[in-house]
Amino acid sequence: MLEIVAVPAFADNYLWLAHDAASGETAVVDPGDPAPVLAEADKRGWRITKILNTHWHPDHTGGNLAIKQATGAAIIGPAGENGRVPGLDVAIKEGDRISIGSHGADVWEVPGHTLGHIAYIFRDDHAAFVGDTMFAMGCGRLFEGTPEQMRHSLGRLAGLPDDFRLYCAHEYTLANARFAAHAFPGNAAIGERLAAVIAARDVGRMTVPTTVAEERETNPFLLADSIEHFASLRAEKDNFRSA
Ligand code: ZN
Ligand code: FE
Repeated sequence: MLEIVAVPAFADNYLWLAHDAASGETAVVDPGDPAPVLAEADKRGWRITKILNTHWHPDHTGGNLAIKQATGAAIIGPAGENGRVPGLDVAIKEGDRISIGSHGADVWEVPGHTLGHIAYIFRDDHAAFVGDTMFAMGCGRLFEGTPEQMRHSLGRLAGLPDDFRLYCAHEYTLANARFAAHAFPGNAAIGERLAAVIAARDVGRMTVPTTVAEERETNPFLLADSIEHFASLRAEKDNFRSA
């Protein structure tokens, strides 16, 4: 079993530690802030050997150099964003494989939020690190890519098996759920999930990871029935403020 632990950082980021007890190897995914990552690894007695980045944004890469300096970990990230990922040692692309101990992951290119964005798909563990591509009930903003690219990327992730856990990089679920309920007012599954998310956040509970099955049922961007609908939802979400 890959042991996966969230390290909260900034206002709403989740940095992920993934540990393989058999080999003792530990990876950190998207370490925007080095201090809480090093503290959590230290507390658990885990030695970080790999840094895995999904995209170049500073809230995902800002701790790369400090963690490498402290641990000697190798920095692995998207070839498509080489030059923008601090300290990139190993540039990877679609079809490449990485591993944490004996746990292998396929590398997928999932452009939309940024053009070089990648996801790490741990098939045997039914876990994927998806960065800012898919969120629980949402998706990343289109800073660099097109609606077509993002819709295709989300569709690939939604095609994974139902019980796959999707480790996204932000706790945005409450705002996303409110938008989903606004966009699909008659959808009972969305209404139920909104209520569950409100209850969870009221007591400070995390709503991530999510699962492929939950997203297929309640993610408004997967429920869009055309690329025009998708693009209009994404544009509307950019300016949505719930009451
Ligand atoms: Zn980002
Ligand atoms: Fe981010």
